[in-house]
Amino acid sequence: MLCMVRSRRAWIYILSVAALLVPAGGIAYLGAVSYRDERGAIAAQDDRQRQAATGIAARISHAIDDALDAVDHATALETEAGRATVNAPLARYWFWLDPEGRLRVPRPVPAAVELGGALDRGAGCAAGSPLEDCVRELATRQARVTRLAAAQRAEGCRGDGCAASWTEAKRQYTALAQFDDTGPVAQLGLARTLQLLADPRAAAALADLELRFADRTFEGVPVKLVVAMLRAETAGAEALLDVAEGVLTNRYALDPIVRVGVLGRIRHRLDGALTGAQARRRAELDERVGQIRSEARAAAGLIDELPELMRTAGTAWHGRVASHVPTRTLIYRRRADGGVIGISVDAPMLEEAAGREPGDLVAKNAHALVIPSGAPVVRELRQIVQVPLGEALPHLTLAIVNPIADPDPRDEVIRERSKRHVVYTSALAVALGLGLLLMIRGAARARELAQLKSDFVSTVSHELKTPLTSIRMFAEMLEQGVAQGDPAKMARYHGVIVQESQRLGLLIANLLDYAQIEKGNRRYTPSRQELAGLARLAVTTFETLRDPDGTRNSIEVEVSSEAMPAEVEVDRDVVVQAILNLLANAAKYGGAEQPIEVTVGADATGGWISVTDHGPGIPSSEQARIFREFYRSPEAYRSGVEGTGLGLALVKRHIEALGGTVEVASVVGQGATFTIRLPRIQEQVA
Ligand code: ADP
Repeated sequence: MLCMVRSRRAWIYILSVAALLVPAGGIAYLGAVSYRDERGAIAAQDDRQRQAATGIAARISHAIDDALDAVDHATALETEAGRATVNAPLARYWFWLDPEGRLRVPRPVPAAVELGGALDRGAGCAAGSPLEDCVRELATRQARVTRLAAAQRAEGCRGDGCAASWTEAKRQYTALAQFDDTGPVAQLGLARTLQLLADPRAAAALADLELRFADRTFEGVPVKLVVAMLRAETAGAEALLDVAEGVLTNRYALDPIVRVGVLGRIRHRLDGALTGAQARRRAELDERVGQIRSEARAAAGLIDELPELMRTAGTAWHGRVASHVPTRTLIYRRRADGGVIGISVDAPMLEEAAGREPGDLVAKNAHALVIPSGAPVVRELRQIVQVPLGEALPHLTLAIVNPIADPDPRDEVIRERSKRHVVYTSALAVALGLGLLLMIRGAARARELAQLKSDFVSTVSHELKTPLTSIRMFAEMLEQGVAQGDPAKMARYHGVIVQESQRLGLLIANLLDYAQIEKGNRRYTPSRQELAGLARLAVTTFETLRDPDGTRNSIEVEVSSEAMPAEVEVDRDVVVQAILNLLANAAKYGGAEQPIEVTVGADATGGWISVTDHGPGIPSSEQARIFREFYRSPEAYRSGVEGTGLGLALVKRHIEALGGTVEVASVVGQGATFTIRLPRIQEQVA
C-alpha cells in the first residue's frame, strides 16, 4: 500500500526538481547565448546601415549619369539661335567646352572692355574761343582725348549753378563729335548735355548718334541700346521696362557681365513710384538679373579650369574639387566630338539628388550627408556609417548621420534586446522561485509523511491488538467457564467478542480498501438507491454494532420532504461504510453520551447526508488537513482517542469517486457537521 504512495511522491519530487532545473537551465542558456546574440544583432544592424549608405551612394551616381546625359542631349540640340534647357536637378550649373576648348556654356565674360585709350592728359580748347579754332587745336588724337575728359568733367557738374559748365561741355562735345575716334562718345555726351539743358535739339542729337555710329559700342554696350536707354529715361518707367525686357531676351547680343551692368542701371532708374504691374515687372527683372549674375560668375570661375578640364576629361565621368570654390565639385566627361561637358555641384545638391527612401531610415532622424573624405561630421551629429562615393569622386564620402540627441541605432539594438532579456529572465526567475517553493513544500510534506507513516505503523498495530486482546480474553474466560451458570454474563461476553471482531473487521476493511484505491484497482458497482434508505441502513448498522442491547439513546434520522423521494446512483456498501466512518468519528470525538444527529436533505440537482455531533469541533486551520491519509490532529493524539487517520481520507476518496463531495463545518467547542453530497438521479419527464 505504501509503495503506491511512494511512487506518487517520487513523481512529485521529479516534477519539483524539473521545476527547478528548467528555469535555472533557461537562465544559464540566456546568459550564455546573450553575448553571441548581441554581437549578431549588432552585426546585422551594421549591415543594414552599410546597405542603406551604399544604396544612397548608388542613387547619387545615377543622378549624375542622368544629369550628364541630359547635358549631352542639350548640347547636341544647341543652335546659334538659343540655348536648350537641361531638366535634371544636378545640371543646374552645367558647362560645355567645344572641341577647341572654348567655353560655350556658360558664356564667358570678356576679359576687358576697350575704350579709346587713356583719357588723362593734354590741354583743352580755351573757353570762349571759336569752335573752328578749337577743332584745329584738336587735330592730334592726344589733344582730343584730353579734351573729351575735360568735357566729361564739365558735364558731370550737378546742382543749380551748372548751366555754364554744361554749356561749355556742349561746346567741347560738338567739336569732338566730328572725329571718328572721339565721335561716338562726344555725340553721346552732346545728346546728354542737351537733355540736361532741356534743349529740344537733344532728340535730334540722339538720332544723329544712332545714324552715324550705329555699329559702335560703348564699353560693350551697342549704340542702339544706349540711344534706346536715353530715350526711355525721358519717356518714363514703362519705356525703361521695355528696354530691360529687350536686354533680357538678348535682343542686343550682350555679354552676361554687360547685361548685368545695363540692367543694374535700368533698375536704378526705376526707383521712383511704380504702378502695381510695373512693380511686378521690376521684381521679375531683379530675379533674372540674379540668374545672369551667377551665370557670369560661374563662367568667370571656370575660365581658369578650362585647360585642365580639356586635358583630364575621359569618356567616363569623374569629379574633382573646383579650384575657385573648394565646396564645389566639377563632374565632367568627354563628348564624342572631343568637347567636354560637365556639371558643377555642391554637397547639398548631391544629397538632394539621392532623394529619400524608407530603407535609408536606419535610425531616428537619420539622413545622408556628403562630406569631404577624411573630414569628421559636426559635433551635433552622430556618424552612423560612412561609405566612399566611388573612385570617380575620391574626394567625397557619404555619411549617414543622425542628431546626437537621438538614440544611437547600435544602443537601440542592445536596449531592445536587453529589455527582452530582462522579461525572459524575470519570468524564469519567477518560475525558479515557484519551483523552489514547490520543492520546499514537497520536502516538508515528505517529512510529514515519514512522520505519519511511523505513527501509522504503531497506531495500526495498536488498533489491531486492542480488539484482538479483548476477543482472546473473553473467549478464554468463556472457555474456563468463568460465566458458567450465568446466561446474562455469557451473553455479554459473547457480545463483546462479536463487537470487537466487527471493529477489527471494519479496520481491516478500511486498510484493504485504501490499498486498493492507491493501486487504482478499486471497482464500484453502482445501483439505484434511496438516499434516506442509505442513511437509515448506516445508522441501524452502527447502532447494532455499538449497542447490541439497545440501551443507549438511538440516533435520530431526519429526512426533509424534498429528500424523501430522492434517489442516487451509487455503490451502496461504499456509501454506507462512509456514513459509518462519520458516525464512528462522531461517537469517538463527540463523546459517548452526547447525541448524534443525522439529517437527509435534497434539492433539484443533488442530495446530502449530514452527521452532526456536539464534541470539541475542529479548528478551521485543521479542516483541510483531516482529509489527508494518516493525518490525525494533535488534539486527537492528546485526547487519547484511538484511530489510524485513514477514515476521512477514505470517505473523501470514495465519495469523490462516486461523483460527490465531502465537507466539514465546525465551530470549536460546539461540535462538527460532516456532509456527504451526491448527485441526484434526474427523473425523465415523459
Ligand atoms: P481517525 O482514525 O484519527 O479518527 P479520521 O480520518 O477519521 O482518523 O479523522 C482524522 C482526524 O479528524 C481525527 O484524528 C480527528 O482529529 C479529526 N476528526 C474527525 N472527526 C471528528 C469529529 N467528529 N470531531 C472532532 N474531530 C474529528
